Amino acid sequence: MKVGVLGGGQLGRMLALAGYPLGIHTRFLERRSDCPAGYLEEVTVGAYDDPQALETFAQDIDVATFEFENVPESAARFLSGRVPVYPPPASLGVTQDRLAEKRLFEELGIATAPFRAVDSLDQLHAALDALGPPVVLKRRRLGYDGKGQTVIRSADEIAPAWAHLGDAAGVLESFIEFERELSLISVRGRDGEIRHYPPCHNVHRDGILNVTIAPALDLDATMVAAAEQANRRILEHFQYVGVLTVEYFVSGSALLANETAPRVHNSGHWTIEGADASQFENHLRAILGLPLGSTRAVGFCGMINLIGTVPPLADLLRLPGVHVHLYGKEPRPGRKLGHLTVFDATREGMMRQFRALRGVAMSMEI
Ligand code: ATP
Ligand code: MG
Repeated sequence: MKVGVLGGGQLGRMLALAGYPLGIHTRFLERRSDCPAGYLEEVTVGAYDDPQALETFAQDIDVATFEFENVPESAARFLSGRVPVYPPPASLGVTQDRLAEKRLFEELGIATAPFRAVDSLDQLHAALDALGPPVVLKRRRLGYDGKGQTVIRSADEIAPAWAHLGDAAGVLESFIEFERELSLISVRGRDGEIRHYPPCHNVHRDGILNVTIAPALDLDATMVAAAEQANRRILEHFQYVGVLTVEYFVSGSALLANETAPRVHNSGHWTIEGADASQFENHLRAILGLPLGSTRAVGFCGMINLIGTVPPLADLLRLPGVHVHLYGKEPRPGRKLGHLTVFDATREGMMRQFRALRGVAMSMEI
């Protein structure tokens, strides 16, 4: 069985690694062969919008999926004329457009930060009046790691924010003074069965995921149930197959959906060591129509992203209980180059290891 993956980054690499023990092979479509997944499996080198590359790619695979949410929906649709494609291509179109995504939350009765569509400076002024500061101006399309976002706290910040958006269409939303950020990773099989991992507690720095603690500690059971219900509605809306992640803000007793990723997720890296079946394995199981694996956490995990630089391997391996994952990418500021996970059967044990990890990671200016 061979799974074709659009995109060949670290998420693809971890899909490939999860496939090996099950005898599942992967092939990637990516612009360069020296991508993180390309060190493990074959790569068809080409652009997502190149029909010839897609045709060649399709000939060698049994099912197609993606590890990058900005793959054009048209590429997924092209492939769906040749092989089954999961998740459904329609989920790409909606999650690539922040406005469509926020409207879907509303349609499905899922709470989200108040928002307005903004296509002109006049609309931006009107939207700011309607929502009241502070607000965040975001690009409708192609935002990631907090890029293309500006917080507006007063009227004199409107013009720079508008300039920063460029000529892109935008969404203005209320700035949420959240207590914490969560993500809920779920998987739906071809037969419609749905399983949820325990929620993850995520901390971002400069818009990039920095740290995840999972399962999120001291979380109210009603909040977990609300998140599971929201994920379920999205999965069922799309007749989704595979892993899907929703990011949430927790503000008082409110749970607000921020965004959806139709793929395996950075906040789920801990599932490799910390869950019965990882998100990567479950994604493969789901899209191949195999029985889903247990999403139970087998202990407590802390994960830290290595961004911009990677400390010497020996220094990392000296940390107690650490699991090191390096992606084989060239160092560049703001780039995710790897991650570290600590795992322990007890919460106290994990936090002790995690503090040591963080201490070293911070002193190395990761
Ligand atoms: P990614 O795809 O990497 O998750 P992104 O660029 O799509 O990022 P968001 O997830 O919307 O953007 O925002 C990145 C981070 O910025 C959030 O995780 C959160 O920390 C902060 N943020 C975004 N929107 C808001 C908001 N309305 N109120 C407060 N903080 C926000
Ligand atoms: Mg996000």
